[in-house]
Amino acid sequence: MLTFCKLYYYKLLFMKKNSIVAKKKFGQNFLKDETVLRKIVEAMPKTDNKIVEIGPGLGDLTKFLVDVKSVEAFEVDTDLCKLLQNIFKEEIATKRLHINCGDVLNAWQSSLIDEPYDLVANLPYYIATNIILKALADPMCKNILVMVQLEVAEKFCAMNGEKVFGSLSVITQSLGNAHIVVKVPPTAFDPQPKIDSAVFLIQKNADRNDEKFEDMLRVAFKQPRKTLMKNLSVVYEKNVLQEAFEELNIASTIRPHELSTHDYHQLYKLTNTRSLDGRRESGNTSK
Ligand code: SAM
Repeated sequence: MLTFCKLYYYKLLFMKKNSIVAKKKFGQNFLKDETVLRKIVEAMPKTDNKIVEIGPGLGDLTKFLVDVKSVEAFEVDTDLCKLLQNIFKEEIATKRLHINCGDVLNAWQSSLIDEPYDLVANLPYYIATNIILKALADPMCKNILVMVQLEVAEKFCAMNGEKVFGSLSVITQSLGNAHIVVKVPPTAFDPQPKIDSAVFLIQKNADRNDEKFEDMLRVAFKQPRKTLMKNLSVVYEKNVLQEAFEELNIASTIRPHELSTHDYHQLYKLTNTRSLDGRRESGNTSK
């Protein structure tokens, strides 16, 4: 039973929460739609892994997460850290929740924490892609369930042949399976962003790509409207490429978004093993 004091304390917290002004520089759009919050929780992979939440904000998603599992949270805004420490006093005392106050990017070494974890977050959009790429490369991160700008979610989840299929799609498909869980309109947030958002899930089954493979992807997709052959020939010898394309039965007119992830890996193997000179020496760009 709540005592009068407790009720008064909660009322004060509520007033404090409502007096917080969202800071644009930290990408603060707080998710208010309870249906979406519940959909995120329902979509969480059923694992024993700890949850990492980046940007707990006012704690609206956090309160659902701590009900399910213990949570390691990272929040850059010191005002919000203080508020969260008050709201979640009990969960912090019982070690259901630990809040790291500071920029998550500074805390991230090769792994963000030293045990297996699932990332569940409504990400700050200005660094969302960077965070997801870090989580994909983090061997301790096993699953990624995040809200981002719809356009970004579509890039991570695209299949080859779709216009938005790009290096992010290939990197993701190389490490796991991705799909969009729910599209979210601006009205679900306070303040409302100008763009649509989406929650998507990546279930990882591998830890990281070869860095050189990712270098090749950057070159392959540099000019998406040009042919893949044209893009790659900036870095690779044309005869090595032609041989590899022929062997893999890839049309020389194919555009970067049309080739499958599997074929990108095959192409990478052939161009890099066939000849160490497959990559042009810098400066030797004539052809
Ligand atoms: N999770 C809350 C929700 O769903 O309402 C807030 C989400 S809001 C889109 C993004 C949150 O990330 C904010 O609380 C913001 O302060 C925090 N944030 C922004 N940049 C950050 C960083 N570099 N490290 C940690 N947190 C950050």
